[in-house]
Amino acid sequence: MDYEKLCLFINGKFVSGGGRHEQPVLDPATGEVIGMLPHACREDLDEALSAAQAAFLLWSKVSPLKRSEILRRFAELARAQARRIGLQITLDQGKPLAEAMIEVTGASEHAEWHAEEGRRIYGRVVPARSPEVRTFVVREPVGVCAAFTPWNFPFSQALRKISAALASGCTLILKGPEDAPGGVMALARLFNEAGLPPGCLNLVWGVPAEISDYLIRSPIVRKVSFTGSVPVGKQLASLSALHMKPCTMELGGHAPVIIFPDADVERTAEMLSAFKFRNAGQVCVSPTRFFVHASIFEKFSGAFIARTRAIKVGPGTVEGTMMGPLANGRRPPHIAAIVDDARERGATLLAGGTRLPGRGNFFAPTVLADLPLDSRLMTEEPFGPVAALAPFEDTDEVIARSNALPYGLASYVFTNSARDAHRTAVGLQAGMVNINHFAMGLAELPFGGIRDSGFGREGGVETFDGYLTTKMVTHRHG
Ligand code: NAD
Repeated sequence: MDYEKLCLFINGKFVSGGGRHEQPVLDPATGEVIGMLPHACREDLDEALSAAQAAFLLWSKVSPLKRSEILRRFAELARAQARRIGLQITLDQGKPLAEAMIEVTGASEHAEWHAEEGRRIYGRVVPARSPEVRTFVVREPVGVCAAFTPWNFPFSQALRKISAALASGCTLILKGPEDAPGGVMALARLFNEAGLPPGCLNLVWGVPAEISDYLIRSPIVRKVSFTGSVPVGKQLASLSALHMKPCTMELGGHAPVIIFPDADVERTAEMLSAFKFRNAGQVCVSPTRFFVHASIFEKFSGAFIARTRAIKVGPGTVEGTMMGPLANGRRPPHIAAIVDDARERGATLLAGGTRLPGRGNFFAPTVLADLPLDSRLMTEEPFGPVAALAPFEDTDEVIARSNALPYGLASYVFTNSARDAHRTAVGLQAGMVNINHFAMGLAELPFGGIRDSGFGREGGVETFDGYLTTKMVTHRHG
């Protein structure tokens, strides 16, 4: 096993030991300890803050061209080491190696795209009211950022925030996911190799609430970015507001998928079963509520269940595995409780439904139908391999049902009718609407939600909005 040495990365130095508290990191496929993760002490956090502050004074003045070179060099290194980094992700997060490698190469596109787009952060000249006046508007980096990223896509979630901060001239302190630190560790190592100056990126680990509380309160931090659950996002957004700091919140979802009678049933079932159980359903945009037109409900559920049952579950390191274990020991009991709640309330179990025997956090891909609207699965983000099927008759009614929860992240529609495509695109209250395919998370597209799913966007030209301030300069001469 070739697992990264786990360290803090502060002011360009990798540090561990020194009597710091250490947390075991487990392989979710076996439960075995694969590494020890050092927690940052108060002095480490203070050092990271001063390093990021000092580095900001220099990095904010570095030309966009130079910043772009470093981001592109990082992407080259990451692509060249995709297999090795992918293995880190599989070892501590559990997803199949092929999926982990796609995470690395796909995320590298974010570094490249931000490298290019960062060279196009333009201001503007505003026509003045008198010939002696010149008025212009410039966009400046907001300052030191604190970023908190989750364990489901450890490499890509961290890289999106790092790329946006660095390309806009900000520096950052990132607290990665303690459950799955290997891919994030690799990220710090590669940025160091790519020539990023010390202090621009600092990586810390610890008790999440303690670190976020300390960093967000620090007057050095000027921006907060978080990806994770809605309750934690609300806490961090409240704390940020108390200290008047802008934030980007990429939170949970409960994505509806609407399948109209004219959709290609077999193909839709095939696409959706692969998409639903990718990363064992631990994806904020994972489809959860499948609204299927009553006229094709039996046909679709038959095809979807057949494909779901054919999913090969196993360790992510084994060739041919289609779905790995859940990422940590908290997930299987959580998913089991959601399934039990559904069954107690009369739902029909169509596939899976239980934790798999033996070691590791394996859970069978699960499909349920006949769920009461107030069951946990129909109201709470499951964040796991569970799909709920429900029939619908009318387009307005299904749009209303889709919009009925407080979330508003991703949504999906399958139809060949231009009319239904248009009605759902307009009617669905979500940050992202995908019709007949899935194309979220691409570097050039804005990713993010509305309502309880958060605010701010990662990717697209919108990506820099959270990392820049606007300054107006008006100059009278003569
Ligand atoms: P959690 O809410 O405790 O943690 C989710 C992530 O947030 C973790 O990476 C954790 O380290 C971090 N976190 C938690 N409290 C924090 C705090 N006070 N300050 C800073 N970071 C903090 O839950 P969990 O058991 O790890 O994951 C379960 C839930 O998290 C899921 O149900 C899902 O809703 C959500 N989640 C969402 C995403 C996403 O991409 N939106 C990713 C991972 C987890």
